[in-house]
Amino acid sequence: MTQWVYSFGAGHNEGRADMRNLLGGKGANLAEMASIGLPVPPGFTITTEVCTYYYDHGQQYPADLKAAVNAALARVEEAVGLKFGDTERPLLVSVRSGARVSMPGMMDTVLNLGLNDQTVEGLARASGDARFAWDSYRRFIQMFGAVVLNVDHHQFEDIIEGVKLDRGVAEDTALTAEDWKVVASGYKDVVAEATGKPFPQDPHDQLWGAIGAVFGSWMNARANTYRRLHDIPASWGTAVNVQAMVFGNMGEDCATGVCFTRDPSTGENMFYGEYLVNAQGEDVVAGIRTPQPMSSLRAKPGEKPMEEVMPAAYQELVRVRDVLEKHYKDMQDIEFTVQQNKLYMLQTRNGKRTAAASLKIAVDMCAEGLIDKTEAIKRVAPGSLDQLLHPTLDPKAPRKLLSKGLPASPGAACGVVVFSSDEAEMRSQKGESVILVRIETSPEDIHGMHAARGILTTRGGMTSHAAVVARGMGRPCVAGAGGIAVDYAAQALSAGGHVVRAGDVVTLDGATGEIFLGSVPMIEPKLSGDFAKLMEWADGVRRMKVRANAETPLDAETARKFGAEGIGLCRTEHMFFDPARIGAVRQMIMAEHEDGRRAALAKLLPFQRSDFTELFRIMAGLPVTIRLLDPPLHEFLPHTEEEIAEVAVGLGVEASAMQRRAADLSEANPMLGHRGCRLGISYPEIYEMQARAIFEAAIAVAKETGTAPIPEIMIPLVMSKRELDITRGQVEGIAAQVFAEAGTTIEYMVGTMIELPRACLTADSIAESADFFSFGTNDLTQTTFGLSRDDAGKFLPAYVEKNIIPKDPFVSIDPEGVGALVKIAAKKGRRVKPGLKLGICGEHGGDPASVQFCETVKLDYVSCSPYRVPVARLAAAQAALDSAGRTDRTA
Ligand code: PEP
Ligand code: MG
Repeated sequence: MTQWVYSFGAGHNEGRADMRNLLGGKGANLAEMASIGLPVPPGFTITTEVCTYYYDHGQQYPADLKAAVNAALARVEEAVGLKFGDTERPLLVSVRSGARVSMPGMMDTVLNLGLNDQTVEGLARASGDARFAWDSYRRFIQMFGAVVLNVDHHQFEDIIEGVKLDRGVAEDTALTAEDWKVVASGYKDVVAEATGKPFPQDPHDQLWGAIGAVFGSWMNARANTYRRLHDIPASWGTAVNVQAMVFGNMGEDCATGVCFTRDPSTGENMFYGEYLVNAQGEDVVAGIRTPQPMSSLRAKPGEKPMEEVMPAAYQELVRVRDVLEKHYKDMQDIEFTVQQNKLYMLQTRNGKRTAAASLKIAVDMCAEGLIDKTEAIKRVAPGSLDQLLHPTLDPKAPRKLLSKGLPASPGAACGVVVFSSDEAEMRSQKGESVILVRIETSPEDIHGMHAARGILTTRGGMTSHAAVVARGMGRPCVAGAGGIAVDYAAQALSAGGHVVRAGDVVTLDGATGEIFLGSVPMIEPKLSGDFAKLMEWADGVRRMKVRANAETPLDAETARKFGAEGIGLCRTEHMFFDPARIGAVRQMIMAEHEDGRRAALAKLLPFQRSDFTELFRIMAGLPVTIRLLDPPLHEFLPHTEEEIAEVAVGLGVEASAMQRRAADLSEANPMLGHRGCRLGISYPEIYEMQARAIFEAAIAVAKETGTAPIPEIMIPLVMSKRELDITRGQVEGIAAQVFAEAGTTIEYMVGTMIELPRACLTADSIAESADFFSFGTNDLTQTTFGLSRDDAGKFLPAYVEKNIIPKDPFVSIDPEGVGALVKIAAKKGRRVKPGLKLGICGEHGGDPASVQFCETVKLDYVSCSPYRVPVARLAAAQAALDSAGRTDRTA
């Protein structure tokens, strides 16, 4: 028989931390905390298997679920000495979702369940606090109404505002028990009106309603979006946790809070969080009241830190923090409630953190002996390093401060102001950088936050929805900027006499919380000592080398700074766009005869030679792969009359002849046209010029520095051995000429891009003529899918959204199709030439999942854009550790 329900607390713990797939993260950790002796109110978890069953069976529960829930509920009643629905000593419960991985705020929660017109009186008598009882009841009606019965929450707010107006008070805290009774009664009327039925009075009906709502929320639109963004399969399902209520809103010796065992922004080993006296959990995260800091060290003048206000409960929390970190060996994100000075733990989970914090915590925990180096390497998500490499504001740049809020998520961002998430998404799709400005964000804003460069809210604290989600996404965020007034209707915000309208530019500094008018210049990041340390550990375990795709000196220098071990792709056509050269490049392409081409190439030779000289100098003996010209021709053709006339003058021909030639050269499908080695074969003088420039530069640098560069000359878009033989022959011929002229030789290699399916399938014969292969997975993806690189953006996102393909194959390698071809080519190539050097230089070289794939094919290196080099280094290390783990397990 399947066990659908697992109890926890009061000495009866059926779950464990490693049962998160079944119990969800929250349920598994509640059981774990209870079993290590931490104070957890008793309860039970309905498993994720029930959720799966529910959706597989037309939203029906397993037949034996009810009995299991009743038995678990009886155990809770017994543990706390209260009874569900009892009019004298009523048990109240919370009902919360809890998936395998946390999905903050995406699903539903109901608190104070079990209250009705009778039990509320019992609660008032038992607690001796009628105000608390009626406040709890109205909260319950509101939450249950909104979550389970889908009543619009604005209707409830109108009622409270009405009663406050009536009593002439501004704060909720000024309302009495009688007032809350009036509010509760108004709420019940709202529910009755909206649903056509009275508010449910039977606690068991309430319980099953709430359970159904939590399971239902697994499939709501925002949960679906969140899952898509975070690659969470719908089949995982959520668990439901039912737990005895403890009350943080029973008076001044009660409180509720959310905190992290270390600073989630910086990683500092310091207790960090917020709490509110006399409040319930939702009040803190909702950002409605401004929470207070936990520790005195963090408190600003006028604030009331928990350390001073509730010293005993605070000290107990400090003890719990140590127990948790030693037990979980990771930074924890915890929720707690203090009821009459007694601390209760309501949740623990590994805390979300910024990349900087993640790095520092991993390195610090290693130093503290909590984890080892291997574990530290695994702890940091490679993709998150991007955040550390984000620019920050140039401290010397002039700026005009608009306002200041909380530094909720680091990094600087600049963009046009938008006031809605839909607008953010729309404008960012058009290529604009946007700053999403909201009074506060809610889970409905998830798509807008994702689309925005930066997020600004005027309400809420460091653990508000905006702050938590932005940090997780790596978006700079300033939260709780209370000095700014947002007027959605007018599409404008105002602060300190300034008005900023939608479409105006602002700059955010997520590290200081400042908001500036206009755009402020930014500077490149400096990397911390922890970064270097972790990278060094990663380098110690990775097998694959990491190179960079670079052609300019600046890119090459950046690449080296980030630890690139060579250049894996120098796209020489990118060197041709320079205004000083484009004229000669056009002449070369437009020339009708070899003479004209040679004349243009002679002008380009010195440019190319000095380009390569510079690259060889910067790379100081590291390998440099130079790809011979692979121009998508249309990008170079002269377009305007002026450009055509200019080329005609250069070539000494009539403009009309040029127009004809341009028409002749234009292609229906340039991506599959006269490009790559096809061009080098039609016009051998082009590759000859480039080979000459490379060899002359290499010899010059060898003489100058005493270290001979080893150029790796790469032929693009090869589909057969014959093409490689011809182009290789050209290169070798030039090498012999240049060596004879210089009276010296240098080592070099000639290899090929593998970027066509035919090249993969005939890789054995191509390998006979190649010293190396470099997988051009951009073109290989294009040609394998039959999907134009230039046009895919129009429909591919919809394909991903509809789950027709799991990910954009131009971002992350498609293992089944493109990956299968890479495997075939690697195998065939190595069969012919066991030492054949294999690399990848498509955009995938900087994508962690693709790097993982490359390790499984045992490529020698990955090459990616300079800023992705650290990402690739860490991803390659993790891939090596994973692969070693797999070998261990199969040994
Ligand atoms: C590729 O096709 O993957 C590649 C690296 O070449 P390019 O992007 O220049 O076509
Ligand atoms: Mg290519």
